[in-house]
Order: sequence, then structure tokens, then C-alpha cells
Amino acid sequence: MATSTDRRVAIIGSGMGGLTACLAFAKKGFRHIDVYESALGLGFVGAGIQIAPNLIRVLDRLGCWDGSTVEKEGTRVSEAIVLDGATNAEMMRTDMSGLCDKYGYPHYAGHRASLAGTLYEAALKEPNVRFHFGETLQDVTSFAPGRVNFVIKSRDGESRTMNADILIGADGIKSVVRTTLLRELGLHGQVKETGQAAYRILLTRRELEPYPELLSFLDSNAVRRWIGEKRHVICYPIDDHRIYNISTCQPDVNFAGTANTTWTTKGSKKQMMDTFSDFNPLIKQMLSLVPDGEVVEWRMRSHTPLDEWTHGGVALIGDACHPTLPHLSQGAAMSIEDGATVAEVVGLLFDTEGAGAGWEAVTKALKVYHLLRKDRTATIVEMAAFSGRVLHLGEGAAKVERDRQFANTKGGKGANPDKWLDPEVQQMVYGHDCIKEVRERFEELFSSM
Ligand SMILES: Cc1cc2nc3c(=O)[nH]c(=O)nc-3n(C[C@H](O)[C@H](O)[C@H](O)COP(=O)(O)OP(=O)(O)OC[C@H]3O[C@@H](n4cnc5c(N)ncnc54)[C@H](O)[C@@H]3O)c2cc1C
Repeated sequence: MATSTDRRVAIIGSGMGGLTACLAFAKKGFRHIDVYESALGLGFVGAGIQIAPNLIRVLDRLGCWDGSTVEKEGTRVSEAIVLDGATNAEMMRTDMSGLCDKYGYPHYAGHRASLAGTLYEAALKEPNVRFHFGETLQDVTSFAPGRVNFVIKSRDGESRTMNADILIGADGIKSVVRTTLLRELGLHGQVKETGQAAYRILLTRRELEPYPELLSFLDSNAVRRWIGEKRHVICYPIDDHRIYNISTCQPDVNFAGTANTTWTTKGSKKQMMDTFSDFNPLIKQMLSLVPDGEVVEWRMRSHTPLDEWTHGGVALIGDACHPTLPHLSQGAAMSIEDGATVAEVVGLLFDTEGAGAGWEAVTKALKVYHLLRKDRTATIVEMAAFSGRVLHLGEGAAKVERDRQFANTKGGKGANPDKWLDPEVQQMVYGHDCIKEVRERFEELFSSM
């Protein structure tokens, strides 16, 4: 007789959300977990990522933090500094080293490839997880739990219909699972322009060596953010202080009006330099070190809020259902929390109801997952957008008030206009334990449906 852990789980996408979901389902004892990824490998862009305490809590629960590549190579962030882009004057500085005492986990910055690699290595140790690279989801043709049918096109161009009991759409902002789910439910929703774009740059120690001040940034454990009207530059060391990660935010002028499918473009170095021409000489120095022809610009897009993330045996996680601007450094963290939450919810359903849990119960359990995640993720997405608006203010009364608030944060007191550094926001974001929440609230929410 089939047992609950014989349920077949298909995961579309092996980004941060999909990798976490497959690992979390495996840890819950599921025996048939298939991950379909359109890329031929993990293929993470060369860029850094901030790894917040709530993200590390999930990795730790999944047994892949202590001694992991990302822990070994990452930077344990000790402080964050906000500076005026034009003058380089310090506007505020806050201690980040105390976060570990407060929330049980530190704040890190690392290479995306290290974070993804850590999750992937852990998943590879699970005999019940199978990765299918070069396999692209084209359509979901049945959403019924126990009979989710979906069409996968393999790299040789052949399409075949597959099926699973549960399908997790972890396929990012361009999600095909989301499109098919909305179509099935007769709902509308669309990808939205944010009007913002980003350059992502990695400078090596060798490149920074001739510049003592830049080198001191690489050797520090600080995250620095220089702000100006409609723009900012955020930097931190990664890769065991061998690489300085630079990420910018500026008005999207290159993508506006381009085809929907264009997400990254080879940028012009001259245009990048022009965009930050009124920033201080240190920033211009840093940007000038990017080799010609290696400037890459990213389009930052979001999506209209979704009323439904689940239908039948299908659930969306991560950027597929709540893409966000990066100003709170929580996009990957939310995807990772979603992946762990959905596995915990389904696992708990079978733990409590046993193998006899019917398919209707699976549909209900996925709705519990949505209920558990929707308010938190909506708040974080809105707060990231708010932070962007405040950080990018131009001259005027609002900016004067913002700068007064920055000045008032000395000693870690008072609201911080950069919401990423605000003590109350940190409490809400970093203090959250998504697994504990499932265990505390699952029964009440499940029986209320
Ligand atoms: C400039 C910038 C800076 C950021 N900084 C941070 C930060 O500091 N901290 C943080 O937590 N977050 C940050 N983020 C956000 C974070 O990168 C994303 O939110 C996160 O990577 C989303 O993960 P995901 O797994 O949901 O989606 P993705 O990472 O997009 O993964 C989706 C996967 O699905 C695959 N896929 C897509 N379609 C199909 C298909 N049809 N069939 C099969 N496979 C498919 C893709 O190839 C991909 O591998 C930042 C984002 C940007 C743009």
C-alpha cells in the first residue's frame, strides 16, 4: 500500500526557492522529488547576495549552514553604513554584529553561487531528489492533486506530458506555472515595470590593490550604501574578501519600451559612468575599474499582487508569486522561506492525517501555505518599494526630513528611513521562524477551511 511519503512532488525551477523546496521535501521523507530546470546547470549569475538571519535560520533547520561553503566563504556583516552619494559624507552607521544575539543567526553577504551551491550539494546527498537540467516546463494541463499533468520540453526539442501528485512552481518572475494557474482560474495579472534597473559588478582584490581606500572596504565586514536622487550603489565584500560586490540601482532607461522577454543587456560603460557622474570620486573610481564590455544591466520588474498562489495540487513559491525590489535584501530569503514552508505544511498534513489524507486535504493544505505566507511577503514587498522611494528622494522637504531621521538613528535608536536597517522591521523580518509558525498554526488554519 502506498504511504504518504510515496506522493510524487515535481518542482519547476532550481533557483533558491526550488532548491530549498526539494531539500525540505526530502527532509520530510518524501521519496519521489523531481526538479525540472530549463538551464543546463545551476548557472547563477556572478553576483553577491545578502543572506539575512531569517534565511540562515532555514538553512540551519535543513542542516546545511554550519560548515557550509556559503558560511566559510561569506562575510559575516558587522556594520552597515549609509553615505551621501555626491559627497561621500556618512549619514548613518549601524551595528549589525548584535543581530546574532538578538535573532540567533548573523547577517551574511556571500556569492550567489556559494548559496545555491550549498543548497544543491545538500540536495544531491538526498537519494530521493532527482534533477533534470535542460528540461523546460511548457504548460500545466491538469491541476488536480494526484493527477497534476504538465508538459516538459527537453533540450533535444521533444515535448512529453508528465504527471505528479503535487507541483511546486518555483520558476521565478517569468513563471509559466503562474501564467497557467491564472489562466485556469480565469484571473488576470501581469508583470509590472518598476522603472528601476541595476548594474551588477564584481571587482577582484587585484583590481582594487592600487587603491588603499577601496582595498580597506574589501577588507572590512561592512555593507556600504551610497544614495542619491533616483539612484544608489550598494557594496560589500564576498568570497572570503577576495571579491568586492557592487550593485547599483538607477532609472530604467534602456529597457523601457523593449520587448517583454528582455531582462538583461550588455550595458555601455560610458552610460554607466554618466549615470553616476555626480557621485563622489570613490564611486567613479570603482565603476571605472569594470572592464569595457563587461557591464551588464538588469531590468527590475515586479508583478501585480496575486489573489491566488495555489490551485488543486499546484502551488507557487518565491519570485513566481511575489517578486520584489531588492532594497530590503529579502527576495531570495522569501523564496527560501516559502520552499521550506510549503514542504513543512504538506509533510505535516501527512504526519497528522496519515496516508489516508485525501486529495482535497492536499488542496486545503496548500491553501494553508498561502495563508501563512501572504501577509508577510506582501508587507516585505511593499516595504522594499517604500525604502526605494525614500532612499531615492531628490531635493526638498521630504529629503530634509529623511536626513534628519538618519541623523537621529545614532546609537541604534529611532526609526530608520532605510527599512533594511530599521530595528522594528528587522524584528519582524529577522525574528520570523517560518517552520515554527507552521507547527503552531497549521491545525487551526487547516480546520478553519
Ligand atoms: C539586483 C538584485 C539584488 C538582489 N539582492 C538580494 C539580496 O541581497 N538578498 C536576497 O534575499 N534577495 C536578493 N535579490 C532577490 C533574489 O535574487 C530573488 O528574489 C531570488 O533569486 C528568487 O528566487 P526564486 O527561486 O524564486 O526564482 P529564480 O532565482 O528566478 O529561479 C527560478 C528558476 O526557474 C528556472 N525556470 C524558469 N522558467 C522555467 C521553466 N519554464 N521550466 C523550468 N525551469 C524554469 C530558471 O532558470 C531559474 O533557475 C536581488 C535581486 C536583484 C535583481
